[in-house]
Amino acid sequence: EDVVNKIAAGEIIVAPMHALKELIENAVDAGSTSLEILVKDGGLKLLQITDNGCGINKDDLPILCERFTTSKLKAFEDLQSIGTYGFRGEALASISHIAHLTVTTKTADSSCAWKAHYEGGKLAPAKPGQGADPKACAGRQGTQIAVEDLFYNVPTRRRAFRSASEEYAKIADQVGRYAVHCKGVAFSCKKHGEAGAGIAVPVNATVKDRIRIVHNSAIANELVEVELENVQYGFKIDGLVSSANYSGKKTTLLLFINHRSVDSSAIKKAVEQTYSNFLPKGGKPFVYLSLEINPARVDVNVHPTKREVNFLNEDEIIELLCDEIRMRLGKVDT
Ligand code: ADP
Ligand code: MG
Repeated sequence: EDVVNKIAAGEIIVAPMHALKELIENAVDAGSTSLEILVKDGGLKLLQITDNGCGINKDDLPILCERFTTSKLKAFEDLQSIGTYGFRGEALASISHIAHLTVTTKTADSSCAWKAHYEGGKLAPAKPGQGADPKACAGRQGTQIAVEDLFYNVPTRRRAFRSASEEYAKIADQVGRYAVHCKGVAFSCKKHGEAGAGIAVPVNATVKDRIRIVHNSAIANELVEVELENVQYGFKIDGLVSSANYSGKKTTLLLFINHRSVDSSAIKKAVEQTYSNFLPKGGKPFVYLSLEINPARVDVNVHPTKREVNFLNEDEIIELLCDEIRMRLGKVDT
């Protein structure tokens, strides 16, 4: 049974960035306005994320890493964000099967913080000889999740990683995406032991500021807004896309569907095609899009590592989007 859990976990979490993406989504779901991320060895030694969200009730800690049972944890019920992110209840469970997981958390009405350690889906002693129960400790409201020695028990996976800096680059890319999208949330992301470097986005930064910080001014100075709402297909799109004055070496597509970072090669292809009429040969755009769509119309059962998303009336929606971009770029094709 444990082997099965380990294999399942290894399919969900293929690289450190997959674990981190889930942890970021959890922290944002918890209503956090600050996320601090610390990475050691490309995330293989340590992935740590500290948030200031609602925290986890002490009573929920024993079942936190059980698969599929955690979606209705109590501290969470009154949060409006329910329904915006998918709830599968298996991220922490999966991580606990392939890493050493430590959760330190405090809710508003708890007088102290609680620290719990997990192995294989269950509470476990942090050190030999200690008890497995959560331990009271000092701490601020919010949650800190520390994932240590990812894939320590999956040697084949561990061996597949060549370079920590490559894994860090993927992590920074993912953090950058959420840092652009999550208005009202401060982000920091650092490599352990390296002062200064990394991502630092202040809480009040506008989306444009966020793009300037995560990407650069050349892009941030050449953005136009896209805004589109459609009743027939039940969707809304907001975004910032580069104007015809900007021409990059490769397409940057930051795509969020219902506030989750996803990939869509169909959207990417259509957008590149649209821009090809406006940019010098080989020039590529920067495109940030937040698509909100009736969840019933989105295929939510996509595998976590298969971030390609599918939704109903994809072709029609993409066409409307490209019309909007064409219009905003200033040349209406009819
Ligand atoms: P899911 O998010 O699909 O429910 P997870 O394994 O990612 O499953 O998380 C399990 C539960 O743990 C969440 O539903 C939430 O109640 C709680 N949780 C996880 N991370 C946090 C966090 N940073 N702050 C508050 N609660 C959290
Ligand atoms: Mg989650």
